[in-house]
Amino acid sequence: MKVLVPVKRVVDYNVKVRVRADGTGVETAGVKMSMNPFDEIAVEEAVRLKEKGIATEVVAVSLGIAACAETIRTALAMGADRGILVESDAELQPLAVAKLLAAIAGREQPGLMILGKQAIDDDMNATGQMLAALLGWPQGTFASKLTIEGDGITVTREVDGGLETVALRLPAIITTDLRLNEPRYASLPNIMKARKKPIETLKPADLGVDPAPRLHLVKVVEPAKRKAGVKVASVAELVAKLKTEAKVI
Ligand code: AMP
Repeated sequence: MKVLVPVKRVVDYNVKVRVRADGTGVETAGVKMSMNPFDEIAVEEAVRLKEKGIATEVVAVSLGIAACAETIRTALAMGADRGILVESDAELQPLAVAKLLAAIAGREQPGLMILGKQAIDDDMNATGQMLAALLGWPQGTFASKLTIEGDGITVTREVDGGLETVALRLPAIITTDLRLNEPRYASLPNIMKARKKPIETLKPADLGVDPAPRLHLVKVVEPAKRKAGVKVASVAELVAKLKTEAKVI
């Protein structure tokens, strides 16, 4: 079974994000970019399926500017076999990404696609669900455990107040939650090996998709600054303040 893993290039999670002065988005110039952390979990899960002999090939796909090839290389160094870069300088919103991924699924015929539950840059949490709808495939979102048997997959999902288990028939779409696994670090020999693995480059037009944005971004602003806290001298003062000043927000 072939497993396709879409990996997004995002601002590294350690970077303190700054909003551009004109409010059109966040600053990415000169900022460290990395693979979306939920996508690292997706790559790890796909590679583990290969190591168990369940997956035969793991294909990493990234959509965006030419530098997204670096994100694919990271996936290849973690153990993916080959990459597909859909190169576009245009802003790619979730619906466009889902349509492009659906077209790639048509060409590649994977048995499983594992995405992140959300990209940490815009927190859309939409692409996997849209992709499942476009393909007409079942979806197991927010997965914290996967078990594949025959043409079925059992997915444990993290839901409010507990865990839900769903059984899906393959091919299916999975989106990863934080507890699914702990992604490996790529070793130096594997980083070297990844350089020789193939990456195919396509344009949205090659896949017959018009990636024009459908959503209009009005404005991005910094979160409001937190007010400084107050130090109290005693427990009695704290209790008094809680009684008279504390508010439920
Ligand atoms: P989102 O719906 O934007 O929060 O993203 C959810 C998931 O969709 C991500 O974790 C990726 O697996 C995938 N995805 C979204 N955008 C891209 C992209 N430009 N390239 C590759 N994968 C993407």
